[in-house]
Amino acid sequence: EKFKDGLSKTRNSFSEKVNDLVARYRKVDEDFFEELEEILIAADVGVSTVMELIDQLKTEVKRRNIQDTKDVQAVISEKLVDIYQCGSEQSSDLNIQSEGLTVILIVGVNGAGKTTTIGKLANRLKNEGKTVLLAAGDTFRAGAIDQLEVWGDRVGVDVIKQSEGSDPAAVMFDAVQAAKSRNVDVLLCDTAGRLQNKVNLMKELEKVKRVIERELPGAPHEVLLVLDATTGQNAMTQAKTFSEATNVSGIVLTKLDGTAKGGIVLAIRNELKIPVKFVGLGEKVDDLQQFDPEQYVYGLFS
Ligand code: GDP
Repeated sequence: EKFKDGLSKTRNSFSEKVNDLVARYRKVDEDFFEELEEILIAADVGVSTVMELIDQLKTEVKRRNIQDTKDVQAVISEKLVDIYQCGSEQSSDLNIQSEGLTVILIVGVNGAGKTTTIGKLANRLKNEGKTVLLAAGDTFRAGAIDQLEVWGDRVGVDVIKQSEGSDPAAVMFDAVQAAKSRNVDVLLCDTAGRLQNKVNLMKELEKVKRVIERELPGAPHEVLLVLDATTGQNAMTQAKTFSEATNVSGIVLTKLDGTAKGGIVLAIRNELKIPVKFVGLGEKVDDLQQFDPEQYVYGLFS
């Protein structure tokens, strides 16, 4: 229900347009596909993903000899799920170690929703019975440490921090040590989100990762990239930059509740082959949902 509510802007806009299209055309033809293409592009599905989808739809419509537009809707859903899965059903589960410490690095530009996501994730993991610690690795942005502490208090987890301006790698060193000595299950690490200088960003992320790796072989177990869905194709550009800078293992797409362009989920998955693991559907602590492509696609039409 929450997922459906959160997706309502996209759903209303998308399903209304598709329903209207189906009602107007009745018979499947070139113009029908052309208009469908426009609807998908307007929903931020991304041009190359839309082209691929339309090609597949045409093939399928021909193969099944579908003539009536109302019979196309089910095929659209099917193909959207296929496109999302890219032939491999990657799981949206977090890679949590069955024994010992799991380290999760959270990256993304300022304002994308990193801090909020860390708070929500901490709460979620805690509810699953895990012990959680936070690392205040954004030592650059004024107020970032305080903001993380507010979430730490709210959720009831400790934050390992140093003063503003200190070396984020040193914070990570402390945090991994603390997590190990306290026998914590999951360490969630915040990072700085300035993207103005790609070289610096890469260097900082590399250094932070190196320290974590050195202190705990095999870590970080996840690098989650937080993207703001309302920024549309901009989110796509950020995803490309970050995946060049570091090995991103999953995406958290925030503010899906605030956009009618939820098609960005498909574009990211199809063009970058990185799974969307969670979606943010609001500002509150429990407004984070594990992503399920079928629920998402079928939610668009229900
Ligand atoms: P950071 O700079 O990346 O750490 O971003 P913040 O966590 O501070 O989030 C920036 C703003 O986005 C805040 O006002 C959050 O409340 C808001 N925000 C984060 N996630 C979501 C979401 O899923 N939905 C909505 N509507 N707002 C969100």
